[in-house]
Amino acid sequence: MTHQHTSDPHHFETRAIHAGNTADPLTGAVVPPIYQVSTYKQDGVGGLRGGYEYSRSANPTRTALEENLAALEGGRRGLAFASGLAAEDCLLRTLLAPGDHVVIPNDAYGGTFRLFAKVVSRWGVDFSVADTSDPAAVQAALTPRTKAIWVETPSNPLLNITDIAQLAGIARSAGVRLVVDNTFASPYLQQPLALGADVVVHSTTKYMGGHSDVVGGALIVDDAELADELAYHQNAMGAVAGPFDAWLVLRGIKTLAVRMDRHSENATRITEMLTSHPRVSKVLYPGLPEHPGHEVAAKQMKAFGGMISFQVKDGEEAAVAVCDRAKLFTLGESLGGVESLIEHPGRMTHASAAGSALEVPSDLVRLSVGIESADDLLADLQQALG
Ligand SMILES: *Cc1c(COP(=O)(O)O)cnc(C)c1O
Repeated sequence: MTHQHTSDPHHFETRAIHAGNTADPLTGAVVPPIYQVSTYKQDGVGGLRGGYEYSRSANPTRTALEENLAALEGGRRGLAFASGLAAEDCLLRTLLAPGDHVVIPNDAYGGTFRLFAKVVSRWGVDFSVADTSDPAAVQAALTPRTKAIWVETPSNPLLNITDIAQLAGIARSAGVRLVVDNTFASPYLQQPLALGADVVVHSTTKYMGGHSDVVGGALIVDDAELADELAYHQNAMGAVAGPFDAWLVLRGIKTLAVRMDRHSENATRITEMLTSHPRVSKVLYPGLPEHPGHEVAAKQMKAFGGMISFQVKDGEEAAVAVCDRAKLFTLGESLGGVESLIEHPGRMTHASAAGSALEVPSDLVRLSVGIESADDLLADLQQALG
């Protein structure tokens, strides 16, 4: 098994299709088979074929995905997990010990916040909430016990933008690690390791898988020592991606570049409609020139992605009604699939942040804009807004 891909000379679109996807040595199958197996015949005691001994430790389908993930994020090593939160849990238990402290964003994925607030905190790990789009606020939140700064950009669901390169500078001078949750952008739109981050986190459930048919997570790092520590914990804790789930993510990634282009184009057309709609008070999308993070997003992202949030003029009940009336936009949690989704974060994805510093506005609606016809999507939203 090799995990070295920092030298892959190909462009992103090519790496997405070919990295890790070598033809099956036995049959020549051009797609890596689903190695639905737990254990491997040894050629004499300890005589492992290709390093495989037990599928929690390594499985060839998962290896294919992990090599692909490393190549796409430009890291030395990728690790695939059963979910995004399983990846986060492995990362936190690898990096932190009781007494340590983490700076987390005031606008994080609800499940990430819950992991810190309800789970990790019980093990003596402390955290502070900061507006990570404001470098001074992050600097002020650092303590001598801080081990990591956690960033989500664009953030969920407020689409705030954090300057990754700037925070990497702050993290480096403080001697702490910068973790970037790159789920919303995907490596096609944004490359955190190249901007100075130490760890990239993904919920591969979202854009990487891209078809709303799998739950998965990933960590990608370039530091060899950290890679080994994470791989050790991945095996020791065991929340790995199963072979079929790994295969589905690997399959989804092949079209990531074309999908992200279309998600971004469709989202741009929808924001044009929403910004001039009389029932919409505010549109949150980093592609809009008036978005406070627009310049940073334009600098660190290739396009602005498929996620849009907006506030409805008449308040919470009106926002809920828009979600209920949408037809083509399916009412549901999650995001990043080819089909468009709509949701009310306050009552759905971010309900667990109610009453905390991460509570979201009650009149907020979040869209995951799919890759259907933009005309059909616009018509559906217009009828839903009434
Ligand atoms: C969904 C999501 C997660 C959690 O991933 P799961 O696969 O649901 O465990 C983490 N971060 C972000 C930004 C997400 O959208």
